[in-house]
Amino acid sequence: MMNNQRVTIVEKIMDANDRLAGINRSLLDENGIFAINLMASPGAGKTSLILKTIEALTSQIRIGVIEGDTAPVTIDADKVHAAGMPAVQINTGGDCHLDAVMVNNALQQMPLKELDLLIVENVGNLICPAAFQLGTHANVLIASIPEGDDKPYKYPQIYRGVSALVINKIDLLPYVKFDMDYFRQGVEMLNPGLVTFPLSCQTGEGISNWVNWLKEQVSIRKIT
Ligand code: MG
Ligand code: ZN
Repeated sequence: MMNNQRVTIVEKIMDANDRLAGINRSLLDENGIFAINLMASPGAGKTSLILKTIEALTSQIRIGVIEGDTAPVTIDADKVHAAGMPAVQINTGGDCHLDAVMVNNALQQMPLKELDLLIVENVGNLICPAAFQLGTHANVLIASIPEGDDKPYKYPQIYRGVSALVINKIDLLPYVKFDMDYFRQGVEMLNPGLVTFPLSCQTGEGISNWVNWLKEQVSIRKIT
């Protein structure tokens, strides 16, 4: 009995979230913005990838960033501002994921008419961010070499729900035990044919493939 009641409450919360995610999606589509939900464990390089992306696209595409953080520190948002792009910080107050309500609040503070691309940096966590729709068009996961090659096997849920995978810090491959074939087999099992971008935010290797994919996605949704 208790269990059934609990399931119903959780279902209602998720329904409300998904409805608001739909409203967020409409808002993005009306403004011709392509939006990604960027997920990773802490330290995988979410902010570094955002800064590299801004650096590569700065004269071509207007990028907005929503920074999800569990604490009211604006370190990541400040870096985006310094790179000359609009950023809104969401402080989750300790919560381990973003939801559609938080993203909706942030969207109200964004100059949507001026943007082509929106990057939502989710909280560093491989478990629950995957369960909450935000209204973005694509879930993108960053895996990084020092995290190890077993992550697809340990966190299958997040690998199943993404439409692109960035493999960051490939410059560390000579120094870290990481079996790329084993890693890729795990990914292929969960998400066959997933588009992947091995790259290094440190050396810049592979960044152009990632950036070209983004440009392609942006041009598909651009309202002319
Ligand atoms: Mg960050
Ligand atoms: Zn959470």
